[in-house]
Amino acid sequence: MECPRCAKEIVPDRLFCMWCEAFLPKAEAGAKASILRRFAADMLDSILSVLVPATAYLLAAPYRRTPFDDPPASWAWLATLIYAVALLLFMRRGLTPGKWLLGERVVNKMTGEPVGFWRMLLRSVMKNTLSSFFLGLGYLWAIWDRDAQAWHDKIAGTVVIKEERPAPLTPARGLRPGTSVS
Ligand SMILES: [Zn+2]
Repeated sequence: MECPRCAKEIVPDRLFCMWCEAFLPKAEAGAKASILRRFAADMLDSILSVLVPATAYLLAAPYRRTPFDDPPASWAWLATLIYAVALLLFMRRGLTPGKWLLGERVVNKMTGEPVGFWRMLLRSVMKNTLSSFFLGLGYLWAIWDRDAQAWHDKIAGTVVIKEERPAPLTPARGLRPGTSVS
């Protein structure tokens, strides 16, 4: 069997090409997301979940008139609520805000299709329980797993891919730099 992207020989039953890291069930969807990138997305999600309400709190601070009047807390709660709704919308597409910012997506390991809300929820619950036990062994598993799956990926039947960006919009044919007009 050959990799659809680099055309080199691939090992059967693997989810990623061992040469170019293309996601073999659907190479056009993307390639293996590196452990560092996945870790960075998790960090971003953690930071954003604190930063969003904290920013709202600080923005509302000047509007406090009496000690009993507490707009900052209300604003922080409202911001948290909005962030939670946004997170649900992201999860419906196999994303979190951090993953979206870094071009990652959680996809079904068989089809390469983005997973929906419920599978993201299952994955998230397992990530924060099972995978975090034993000093986070379940997370670290993705480092040496041949398909780069953490325990929560194994249970949810998912992999994390770095998406292929669509080709940038190019000017009309013949007008691209370095292209002959004739
Ligand atoms: Zn390849």
